[in-house]
Amino acid sequence: MIIVVRSWRQIPDLQINKLNPFKAKAKTLDENDILSSYSDRFHFPQKNGTSCIYFCGNSLGLQPKSTQEFINCELKKWSERGVEGHFTGEKPWVTYHANSKTSLSGLLGACENEVVAMNNLTSNLHLAMTSFYQPQSSRNKVLIEKGAFPSDFYAVYSQIKAKGLDPKECLIELGPNDSSEYLPNIEIINKIHELGTELALVLFPGIQYYTGQFFDIKSIAKAAHDVGAHAGFDLAHTIGNIPLSLHDDEVDFAVWCTYKYLNSGPGGVGGLFVHEQHGKNKSLNRLSGWWGHDAEARFKMDNQINPIPNVDGWQLSNVNIISHAAHLASLQIFDEAGILHLREKSILLTGLLEELIHSSRVLSEHIRIITPSNPKERGCQLSLYLPNHGKEVFEKVVEKGVILDWREPNVIRAAPVPLYNTFSEVVEFTDILEEAIND
Ligand SMILES: *Cc1c(COP(=O)(O)O)cnc(C)c1O
Repeated sequence: MIIVVRSWRQIPDLQINKLNPFKAKAKTLDENDILSSYSDRFHFPQKNGTSCIYFCGNSLGLQPKSTQEFINCELKKWSERGVEGHFTGEKPWVTYHANSKTSLSGLLGACENEVVAMNNLTSNLHLAMTSFYQPQSSRNKVLIEKGAFPSDFYAVYSQIKAKGLDPKECLIELGPNDSSEYLPNIEIINKIHELGTELALVLFPGIQYYTGQFFDIKSIAKAAHDVGAHAGFDLAHTIGNIPLSLHDDEVDFAVWCTYKYLNSGPGGVGGLFVHEQHGKNKSLNRLSGWWGHDAEARFKMDNQINPIPNVDGWQLSNVNIISHAAHLASLQIFDEAGILHLREKSILLTGLLEELIHSSRVLSEHIRIITPSNPKERGCQLSLYLPNHGKEVFEKVVEKGVILDWREPNVIRAAPVPLYNTFSEVVEFTDILEEAIND
């Protein structure tokens, strides 16, 4: 029987095979997956002549097969037109950054004039902090999560130093109270209120890279505003993973990279969101460059600074076309698949991984999942904490053709990605993991 479904919720009761219930369940889910054809649009790394199980889209997304074509198109334009490519042909380079705005605004829940692809994540974080971290007398503190990704920590630390302040006093790190890795939202809100008039900026991740916890962006932004501070978010692990609503949540700024879930290639172009209400404010402190300057007057070379009254006003340099072309190739796939469909599948895919780990005696004895079990508080990734011989287990799993990543001290990050992973791969992975632990 062929079952055609439009949405996951309509999947009929599964006929479960008693001998191998999860394999049968995964097979049914794969057969009913409306996104199953998307895996054909990607190149998969091979080992010993077969495709790997790739659970590492949280670190570097796979290459879409269309990427070459998008890049070749710009190489061809360059070879045929030289400098005239800036102003002529399809997608002239001078306005090339505008081509990603519609897709990005859909992924982020933003207006088109609030998002721009440019630079890289950390450089955008510095640009944003130059505008949104303006310490004034005792309002000089920045709140971040304990165990933040090093680049974010260094950026905040150096911004505080650059303002002539002491990071020991002004950099506040908030971690969980007890021995767990989970940081309850109420503790973040309480800390923001406790810091009150001393708080200048809250910089939080959407998803914490190590634990996989997804934070409540809206309530964090609201609490920051309640005490007169700004709220910025690092969406490195969130964009392309969980649908967002940055505009309605009144986020002040956000930054992201595009080589993780957005599959835009190693070191690919980053992005910046600045809320409309700030974008219009030309008097905000900022580091300027010619690409953020009024486009009409850009080539008058009169050295009169007139920033574009939206996020584009934060641009510094002309667009990195090759990297942006790769970005567009991947965004086209997201537009077709739809972030809401992807999220729906992702909840099932990661839920199956969690269920498999809990239901296996070996796995549940050796692994503690440190990612929240509430699907609303996580994305694709599960962080598997292995207190004993974790690194050895990880290496054995990799040898058997699974690509995922290891984070010190004791965590395997596994991210089944709805665009190109299958339910059967999740089952296969847990079989391999069990073998590696038993070995
Ligand atoms: C991946 C990641 C980065 C990477 O920064 P780049 O500037 O792109 O090198 C920064 N912060 C977080 C939280 C990340 O996950």
